[in-house]
Amino acid sequence: MKTEVDHILTKNILEGKDLVYLLSTKVDREQHAIYRKANQIKKEHCGNNVYLRGLIEMSNICRKDCYYCGIRKSNEAVNRYTLSQEEIVEKALWAWRRNFGSIVIQSGERTDKPFIDAITAALVEICKQTDNSLGITLSCGEQDIDVYRRWREAGAHRYLLRIETSSPELFRKIHPDNEFHRFEDRLKALYNLKKAGFQTGTGVMIGLPGQTIEHLADDLLFMRNFDVDMIGMGPYIPHQDTPMGKGMESLIPSVERFELSLRMIALARIMMKEVNIAASTALQVLDPDGRIKAILAGANVFMPNMTPKMFADNYNLYDGKPAVKDDPMVIVKELEKRLQAFGEIIGYGKWGDSKHYFKRTHLTPWPPLLEERGSGGEVKRTRYEN
Ligand code: SF4
Repeated sequence: MKTEVDHILTKNILEGKDLVYLLSTKVDREQHAIYRKANQIKKEHCGNNVYLRGLIEMSNICRKDCYYCGIRKSNEAVNRYTLSQEEIVEKALWAWRRNFGSIVIQSGERTDKPFIDAITAALVEICKQTDNSLGITLSCGEQDIDVYRRWREAGAHRYLLRIETSSPELFRKIHPDNEFHRFEDRLKALYNLKKAGFQTGTGVMIGLPGQTIEHLADDLLFMRNFDVDMIGMGPYIPHQDTPMGKGMESLIPSVERFELSLRMIALARIMMKEVNIAASTALQVLDPDGRIKAILAGANVFMPNMTPKMFADNYNLYDGKPAVKDDPMVIVKELEKRLQAFGEIIGYGKWGDSKHYFKRTHLTPWPPLLEERGSGGEVKRTRYEN
C-alpha cells in the first residue's frame, strides 16, 4: 500500500509542507523510500561516479568567533598553524599524481594581504606544476569580490561558503553580534562568488539547538532558490571548548541527528538533481559508515583529508573528528571496495564539476529571494536589503 511519503515523492516540485513531512518521518520504510529515490535520481542525472577532493586544511587561524566552532578566534587551547606554500603545493601534487582529480584548500577566515597573496601564489604554482589539470575548490570564508576574482583568475574554479542556516534569527543566535558575523554579509559573499564565476556551494548544520524541521525545510528551499551548484552539509557536532559546546542537553540524540542529516542530503538531491553534494566527514562522527550511507542517499563527492598529520589534529571544528591516517589513499581504496557492491565507482582523474553550473543561465538577482514562513505557517517570500 502506498504511503503519504510515496505520494509526495511522485511530485515534480516539492514545497515547504512536503519537505516538513518528509523530514519528519521516523518510519524506516519511509526513510528508505526517500534514500532510494535520491540514489536513483543521482544515477540518472549525475551517473555513478564518486568524485574525490583531496582536502588540505591550510590554516586554523581565523578572525571570526562563531559560537560552535573549535578553531574560533577566542579558543586559546588551539595550537595555531599555517602551511607554507611548499607544503600546500606538495600535497596538491601528491593528490594529482594519485589521480584524485581535484583538491579543496580550506582555511579559517583571514582577509589580510599576506593571506590573500599566499593563497594566490599557491594556486598559481599548483596550476603551473600540474599544467592546469587539477580541479581546485577553495573554502576560505567571506572575502571582497576583488579577492574572489583574483583567486578565480589564479586557477580556483569552485568555492564552498556555508551559510550554516538560512534563518537570519537562528544565524544571530549562533554567532556574535558584531561586524564580522552578519547574515547579510554571508549572503552577499555567496552572491559575489557567483558573480566572480565560481561554481558556488553552500550548506547548513543540521540539529542545531533551537533549530526546527521548518528551519531545515526553509534551508532546502533557500538552496534551491539561490540556485547553488554544490552542497556541503552535515550534522551539528558540539566542540567542548566553545560557548555552544556546553549546551549538550538541548541537542536531539545523535542517531536522530544522523538520520535527519541523511534525509537532508537525500531531499537536496531530489530537489536539485544536477548539483554536487559532499558526503561530509561530520557524518562519520555519528556513524562509522556515515559517508557511505550519504553516498547511497544522493551524495557524489568524497573528501579524503590530506592535511599533514601533525597539523590536522589542530583543525578540529567539532569534537570527535576522525584521525587522519598517514595515507589518504588507503581510505579511498577502502571506500572503493565498499561501494563496488552498490554499483558506485570512484571517478579517478576526473574533476567532476557540478553539471548544474554549466546549465545555469542567469545570476540570482540581488538581494536573493528567500522563502520564509509567516505566523500562520504559510510560505511568504522575503527580500533582504542590500
Ligand atoms: S566556522 Fe569558519 S569562520 Fe567561524 S570560527 Fe570556525 S573557521 Fe572561523
